[in-house]
Amino acid sequence: MQTRSGSRYTKPQSEVEGWEGRKESERKRRRGQVTEDFSGKQRRCSSPAVEGGGSQKPDFLDGLPDDIVVCILCKLSSSAACPSHLINILLTCKRLNGLGLHPLVLSKASTKSLAVRAKNWSESAHRFLKQCADAGNLEACYILGMIRFYCLQNRGSGAALMARAAIGSHAAALYSLAVIQFNGSGGSKNDKDLRAGVALCARAAFLGHVDALRELGHCLQDGYGVRRNVAEGRRFLVQANARELAAVLSSTRWPPAEAAAMPIGCCPLLSDFGWSVPAPEPHPANRFLVEWLRARGGGAGEGLRLCSHGECGRPETRRHEFRRCSVCGMVNYCSRACQALDWKLAHKAKCTPMDRWLLDGGAAAAEIAAAGEYGAAAVGGDGGGME
Ligand SMILES: [Zn+2]
Ligand SMILES: [Zn+2]
Repeated sequence: MQTRSGSRYTKPQSEVEGWEGRKESERKRRRGQVTEDFSGKQRRCSSPAVEGGGSQKPDFLDGLPDDIVVCILCKLSSSAACPSHLINILLTCKRLNGLGLHPLVLSKASTKSLAVRAKNWSESAHRFLKQCADAGNLEACYILGMIRFYCLQNRGSGAALMARAAIGSHAAALYSLAVIQFNGSGGSKNDKDLRAGVALCARAAFLGHVDALRELGHCLQDGYGVRRNVAEGRRFLVQANARELAAVLSSTRWPPAEAAAMPIGCCPLLSDFGWSVPAPEPHPANRFLVEWLRARGGGAGEGLRLCSHGECGRPETRRHEFRRCSVCGMVNYCSRACQALDWKLAHKAKCTPMDRWLLDGGAAAAEIAAAGEYGAAAVGGDGGGME
């Protein structure tokens, strides 16, 4: 690349090069221009790049070659703490708008910078996520996939985007596809593929996804979609809890207010086995689903329920898709992982056998049998079961 001082930078990589060429003319055009962006302190610095002299302030940014600016923007986008950090860069000037939308920058955008809130959803937010997904950002593929599948009712492209993320070993995408396979979401009851669900779950568990580890543990314990192996299932549940604890300890949510209430000498490890740790921070995709459906009255459609785990947000895609708590029958979950989490967070205190089972047990039991797929199995030591 030709610079103002006449020296040559090393040739940028081929991917940047073609794009670089297009922007070069625009950059050259701006060379004579100056902006008021920099302070007097910066102005005092003598630079060979300053042209025109006099009272005009130099724009040092303008003197930087595009590949260096792109490199800086890559660092910024990968560490951005919210979408506005990235959007503000794009709004700064025409050049940063162009460079900020470079595929390299978008492919490195952090999860937090892609965490669009449901109230801010718009065509341009959709387009931005799509651009990031097209640039190869797996997190954007997953988030946009979840939004299209569950919120925009665009099941085909939503699942395809999630599959793209899953192929790139995105653990949350693998787990979400597993939930879709387990429930036959977007299709009929006959579209359930338990073996595919277990295989996807196993892959996500291998990558350390806590919900997938827990789901796989329950599948093995129940013989659901896989040959029954209680000891192995137990091992996965212990691993899920250990990872959960490690995540909580390293997060900003620790120590929780309720920590003081924990009996002295008791380890908060093994939440499935009676002890509670704070809920993990929900993924931006789940938070979007929760907010989106709450803004629409909390319903996913006529007769369709939401997963009762408050931070999941997955709605049913057909009636009686989700399984219910086998004890009270009043809550329903998209997965055993959600059930286990909700059990320790809230449902444990509320779950009681309902009188209506005694009163109209016959009819209700028949309804549950139609909806439920696998028998009640305790979550760890004392959890409720699902039907
Ligand atoms: Zn759920
Ligand atoms: Zn219950």
